[in-house]
Amino acid sequence: MQPASIACSSCRSRPASYYRASSGERLCRACLERSLARIVKDTLARLAGLTPRDHIVVPVDAALRNRTLAMLRLLGLVEKQYPSTLSVVFLYEPSPGDLELARSLDPKGSGLYVASIDPRPGKPRSLLERLRLLRALGGGAARRLGANVVALPLLRDELSKLMLAELLKGSVEGVLEHRPSFRRGNLKYVYPLYRVSSEDLAFYTHMLGLEPGEVCSDALEADVGGLLLRLFSESRELSYSMPKSAEFLREAAGGGESCSVCGAEGGAPICGVCSRLGLGEAVRTLNVRSASSESP
Ligand SMILES: [Zn+2]
Ligand SMILES: [Zn+2]
Repeated sequence: MQPASIACSSCRSRPASYYRASSGERLCRACLERSLARIVKDTLARLAGLTPRDHIVVPVDAALRNRTLAMLRLLGLVEKQYPSTLSVVFLYEPSPGDLELARSLDPKGSGLYVASIDPRPGKPRSLLERLRLLRALGGGAARRLGANVVALPLLRDELSKLMLAELLKGSVEGVLEHRPSFRRGNLKYVYPLYRVSSEDLAFYTHMLGLEPGEVCSDALEADVGGLLLRLFSESRELSYSMPKSAEFLREAAGGGESCSVCGAEGGAPICGVCSRLGLGEAVRTLNVRSASSESP
């Protein structure tokens, strides 16, 4: 016998397809998407202080393509009611399928661009390196396009794990990365998914027909003992208390001048990661071209 379908706890009409363990809600797809868009809207307005006329660049790294496209859809849903501009910049040569996916998922119809980067930077070996690469190249592309905001697809949980992993290595570098938005010169860096849970993001990405397997903690588990990290990452308290600890440690570390390439605190004039990966040269020579005329 088929079990009767359970109604969504939000709209009470459509059948639920997702159980949100953190709240006990059972949500249909439309209500899950609406809930995530609300979280993103609130994060952008309250934590990041964005305005209706911002120009937001979404850099797409091949390793984080699917979650970035999921973020793009939520940003498009939030921003389509405003005169703001969204620009998607692929940091690699996108396939026609990549361009078509971005077009079909984004309700705001953002401009699509491709960054040609020569010399190519080195391969990031950890989440910290990947984050700084994304920020350096995303920031470089934003300056070329005259944009004032760069949106990055990391979650608070991941920034917490990053901070923990760096602390375990005896480094304060990752600690200084932990905040939902920050400004460098005319650019503001924001994490629109900051308050989205990894479970919600995984289901949502899958719901959009994308493989949800790009969990950043893979890079972390290779860095530090996997068991220890898994124990910590299952603790909700850790995720909530990390931002507070980060503020405390940031004050203790004393800030200082930031890296001129990726914006990392205390890394003036260029941080160790940027010089190791050759990001300074990559950003200086980066070129951005429109992909809008390229056929899908
Ligand atoms: Zn519903
Ligand atoms: Zn740097």
